[in-house]
Amino acid sequence: MVTIDLTLNNFSELPILIDLLGRFGNDYEYTTKGIFRRKIPPLCPNCNNPMVHNGYNSYTKQGLGEVNIGRYKCSNCSSTQEEDRSFWEDLKILLLDSFNDFFQLLRYHNVSYDGISSIMDFIFPRSRSTILREFNKQMEQENLPELKNIRMMHYDEQHPKEGRCQKYRLTLLDAKTQRPLADELFDDKSSETIKKFLQDNLDTSEPVFIVTDFDPRYAEILKEVFGDKLVHQYCLMHLNKLIVRDFPRKTTIEQELLKYRLLNIFYNRENEIKFLEKLKSEERNVVENEKKQKQWIKIAKKEFDEFRHKLKLQRRRNKENLPLHSLEKAKSNFEELMKQIRTYEEVIQKRLWMINKHWLNLTLFHYLPGAPATNNPIESYYSKSLKTDSKKQFRTDYGIENQIRLAEMKRSNLFKKPEKSLIELFRLFIPFKF
Ligand SMILES: [Zn+2]
Repeated sequence: MVTIDLTLNNFSELPILIDLLGRFGNDYEYTTKGIFRRKIPPLCPNCNNPMVHNGYNSYTKQGLGEVNIGRYKCSNCSSTQEEDRSFWEDLKILLLDSFNDFFQLLRYHNVSYDGISSIMDFIFPRSRSTILREFNKQMEQENLPELKNIRMMHYDEQHPKEGRCQKYRLTLLDAKTQRPLADELFDDKSSETIKKFLQDNLDTSEPVFIVTDFDPRYAEILKEVFGDKLVHQYCLMHLNKLIVRDFPRKTTIEQELLKYRLLNIFYNRENEIKFLEKLKSEERNVVENEKKQKQWIKIAKKEFDEFRHKLKLQRRRNKENLPLHSLEKAKSNFEELMKQIRTYEEVIQKRLWMINKHWLNLTLFHYLPGAPATNNPIESYYSKSLKTDSKKQFRTDYGIENQIRLAEMKRSNLFKKPEKSLIELFRLFIPFKF
């Protein structure tokens, strides 16, 4: 094994040096001056004559330490050679890889690049742009298991009456084929009935994406049936209905604006918001006279209804659904609303906290290309209309794709637990400190 010449100063560093240099044979030495080289210089690769020791080259890792790599010179042809320094490069990579795993974990928890950079100031300063570059590089190298074969389903219930007898219709609709997989009537809708219905109709050992409404029992039932195989999406259309119901039927322009800002969390309602903001600024001119104001609001609301109707017709002409925001846009819209949550009525505050609590289950559709965000297909199936929710195309930019990949990595248990803590990694550099 490599010979390590110890001084009183580096005596305690022996275990680390053995760990790093142990793989080199006994023709190598680590001198008291900290030079790593061969005891007997090798033969010259050019002329095959013996070489002699010829000082060293220093390599520095900023803030951590420096290593001296032995140099050899040929006494015949004067060419110089340098000893292999791969152990030093490996040591740096060990630390930087651990940083990258740390960055991934922080990104998964939605820490911004600026935030990570500020945290790193406590540990080992890294600039925002370095972190961004390293993170993206690492993400490109991740190999994720294919989730293409995940089954996508809609689940819903109806409560029809058969004569005087209350019945419960449970339905599973395949999101890809838009066809019912199972549609049965039961005398009750107990948790056991729903569980058995799901178990009878779906392979519970395979991953499944299911859209449901907000019935609080579903989360528990589905979890029990599918365990970790479950990706549970709450229907955004149902959420929209709940939001609309939170507001009085006769709203002020201010209330209407807040309503649309809530609807704008997930769906693009920017046009409506712009229109309402313009109305709100005009309202200032009539606030002194209550009667005048009432009349004005009536007219303004009518204008707004006409505007909405126009947008709807336009979408229908272009065969478009109401467009969904990107995940990042939804998050920033939501955060904007949360900033002023104390100024809203209690019912609105409650709604926002509810969205906050269920955020993941409201946004899971973003993580699977082509996954539905609503139970519209099952609603149409129930209403027997011919109209179906065409498959939505989600625009995703690079940042969101990485966010999607991080969530998939989390689901697939791909995050690495550190083998060595950062402190332990830093200790490996002690023998090389300046
Ligand atoms: Zn030579």
